Amino acid sequence: MKAPQWTDATRALDSAACILLVTHLQPDGDAIGSLLGFGNALRARGCTVDLAVDGGVPDFVEWLTGADTVQSRLNAGSWDVMVSLDSSDEERSGDCGIYGRAHSKTVINVDHHPSNTMFGDIHIVVPDAVSTTEIVQDWLTHMGQPLTLAIAEPLLVGLVTDTLGFRTSNVNGRTLVLAQELVAKGASLPQIVARTLNSKPYKSIALWKRVLNSVELDDGLISGTISRADLEAAGFDETGDSGLVGFLIATDEAKVAVVYKERDDGRVEVSLRSKPGYDVSVAAVSLGGGGHKQASGATIPGPLSTARDRVEPDLRTVIQNGS
Ligand code: 5GP
Ligand code: MN
Repeated sequence: MKAPQWTDATRALDSAACILLVTHLQPDGDAIGSLLGFGNALRARGCTVDLAVDGGVPDFVEWLTGADTVQSRLNAGSWDVMVSLDSSDEERSGDCGIYGRAHSKTVINVDHHPSNTMFGDIHIVVPDAVSTTEIVQDWLTHMGQPLTLAIAEPLLVGLVTDTLGFRTSNVNGRTLVLAQELVAKGASLPQIVARTLNSKPYKSIALWKRVLNSVELDDGLISGTISRADLEAAGFDETGDSGLVGFLIATDEAKVAVVYKERDDGRVEVSLRSKPGYDVSVAAVSLGGGGHKQASGATIPGPLSTARDRVEPDLRTVIQNGS
């Protein structure tokens, strides 16, 4: 992995009259946290900044400062610099990414996925970072940008959500030092936990009620399937699985957890989790997706039944190669 180009990246930003920030499709807490944390910081520095992600900001983080300035699509504008945040590849940043890349002179790729394809012109890719907000926080420190509450809150959202509340195996003492710096600026850890990790609409529970019936455990692999019929019966219209795959991997007997979700376009979202020692990102990359050792995913052609047949051999290999 190429060393982070902090100086080149800062120089590109400093000489830019207008900047675009984009993040990944179906944005999670780290995607929006890094978008708003960095966006609010650049605005505090007096920069002209546009923020965009396909579909806009999801409900659970719309209370963050600046969320109302995020565009849900781009069809006008051009920029000196586009910064891509938390996207491991170009496809992951959706139509906003396509438009932004075509209308920006320089692309800076800021991410923490080991599967990053190193697209763009300047790279700050740090696989050891627990979240992209950790990289943003380091970058702001490097720039000498003071943190305000409007910057600290989204950054803490990314740190908390990508570490599942400081519980993932990559968390270390430095993670807590970074969190402490954000808490010292007024970001509330209990409020962020309550609004992100500890918050679910009843339709999620209605979905889980149905889907838990489909769960199977077979030789270290636990799997669940979400069909269109399940989604419709539960009235579940949100992205993702509302944390189901993360719940399944807590099963003592499981090494790898997978949830298959049928999309309305017939394709299948595959969400993967693993115990430390088992690397599901290898399987995700071979399926055309990406992610981290312990949390990865891909979107693959349907139908649901053949998707399972295609994915399971790769997951068996992950279990065999792990320890
Ligand atoms: P989740 O299971 O929560 O949807 O995704 C877990 C992780 O897998 C994400 O944080 C992201 O790193 C990765 N991921 C999920 N879906 C995709 C995908 O379609 N493409 C890529 N490149 N990564 C994905
Ligand atoms: Mn992330």
